[in-house]
Amino acid sequence: MFDLDNRSVLVTGGSKGIGRGIATVFARAGANVAVAARSSADLDACVADLDSLGSGKVIGVVTDVSDRRACDELAAAALEAFGGLDVVCANAGIFPDAPLATMTPEQLTEIFAVNVNGTFFAVQACLDALIASGSGRVILTSSITGPITGYPGWSHYGATKSAQLGFMRTAAIELAPHKITVNAILPGNIMSEGMIENGDEYIASMAKSIPAGALGTPEDIGHLAAFLATKEAGYITGQAIAVDGGQVLPESLDAIVT
Ligand code: NAP
Repeated sequence: MFDLDNRSVLVTGGSKGIGRGIATVFARAGANVAVAARSSADLDACVADLDSLGSGKVIGVVTDVSDRRACDELAAAALEAFGGLDVVCANAGIFPDAPLATMTPEQLTEIFAVNVNGTFFAVQACLDALIASGSGRVILTSSITGPITGYPGWSHYGATKSAQLGFMRTAAIELAPHKITVNAILPGNIMSEGMIENGDEYIASMAKSIPAGALGTPEDIGHLAAFLATKEAGYITGQAIAVDGGQVLPESLDAIVT
């Protein structure tokens, strides 16, 4: 029923973590997949792994999503390789810790450049191709942090993840006449390379706050992305969907059943 064969997908931040989980699910389903990130070594390793998973083509394109021209070149490379583009997953993001009292203007500028401008640039660069697709899909990786929850040190990060939802709602209206849907996935705490950098103590405390009892996997996010990318999901647009093992539900730690 959910056919992703012959769909061509671009995943920013696809070399690691959640983006790689998304790319893995699409590659396994037979889609053509373009992964983008800044490190060419990580991209090469990722492409080698993804290549063996399905029947579609896989390419890696070195890209900094905070650079509009680089995003244009990324979209052009995917179009040239696949002959079209149906799905853009604007996933690349950073989450450095910066308490409000000591946050510098440079830290604020950097996180908005990657997480917000990078979302706009990736989508804008793919727009003509998504229109030509006739069933284009924009899938954003937002977060529960910002749209639903908060965490010390991440006021700037939470603001960028909420900004993605503001973008989504108007983009969904503007693009609806072209049969393009725009939706956001709000991951809870997912075991990615970036998550591992937060340290064991953080990970253990997060696991305790999740009713499902464990952090999620990158492919947990990929499965929802794959569904949103299908033609069958064409009537779902402008939605923010949490994939978090129930993390936002408990009123306190005592509410969790062990
Ligand atoms: P990660 O493991 O650190 O991976 C980040 C990916 O993005 C890497 O491929 C990285 O490659 C790429 N990237 C970073 N900056 C980039 C830039 N300027 N241009 C292009 N690519 C860039 O992170 P993650 O945990 O998977 O997070 C991915 C997304 O999920 C982010 O948007 C994050 O906000 C969101 N999220 C994560 C969690 C979680 O629990 N992990 C929860 C909620 C939301 P390079 O460094 O080589 O560029």
